[in-house]
Amino acid sequence: MTPSGTDTEVVVVGGGAMGSSAAWHLARRGREVTLLERFDPGHAHGASHGASRNFNLAYSEPTHVAMLLESQLAWRELEAETGASLLAQVGLVDHGDDAGHEEVRDALGAVGIPSESVPAEAARRRWPGIRFETRALYLPTAGRLHADAAVRAFQQAAAARGAVVRHRTPVRASASNAAIACTSRPTPARSWRATWS
Ligand SMILES: Cc1cc2nc3c(=O)[nH]c(=O)nc-3n(C[C@H](O)[C@H](O)[C@H](O)COP(=O)(O)OP(=O)(O)OC[C@H]3O[C@@H](n4cnc5c(N)ncnc54)[C@H](O)[C@@H]3O)c2cc1C
Repeated sequence: MTPSGTDTEVVVVGGGAMGSSAAWHLARRGREVTLLERFDPGHAHGASHGASRNFNLAYSEPTHVAMLLESQLAWRELEAETGASLLAQVGLVDHGDDAGHEEVRDALGAVGIPSESVPAEAARRRWPGIRFETRALYLPTAGRLHADAAVRAFQQAAAARGAVVRHRTPVRASASNAAIACTSRPTPARSWRATWS
């Protein structure tokens, strides 16, 4: 370790949705975590900013379907830990190229996730603001995820469980022996070393 270095079990580089989620999950498992994000909280330079993302359930691969089930629970757990309102299961309509809808319905049905195949004419009557040219796949438990609030909540929940969350800390280099070197602006260069293996 360099004189200005810090040991921690895990260093997570990048505080977008994925890194922030990873930090929370690791902290929940009792790991000592440091999350390093190069920009300010709420920045719009990555992929995770903004008010909404689709919480889309239209997947048929078993791995994805298992993750869908797990993620619904995890979002509710995050909401319960932080008091934030993140996931609105207002339903989602998938239409256009409907190839694969039956596979999706079979896969979701097998794990109890509801779906409905709606002919184009019926879909036009049901959702008059949308122009349907193919049948639609309606997923009543899919919906909308508040992206900005989710990143905030992940970081808040991770910090509440002991994670160190550092913004304005761009990682400039990392080494194969799990050492991560950073230049933390405006403070002098620092490094963190991940000790978990
Ligand atoms: C327009 C758009 C629409 C989308 N719609 C949907 C949708 O409807 N449904 C859905 O599920 N997904 C959607 N996605 C995808 C989803 O938003 C992304 O998969 C997700 O946000 C990716 O998160 P991330 O943490 O991997 O990446 P990012 O949010 O980009 O986070 C990476 C973070 O790492 C930081 N970073 C990078 N390099 C360093 C470094 N050297 N040192 C320190 N920090 C660093 C960055 O600053 C950034 O904060 C959409 C994406 C976009 C762009």
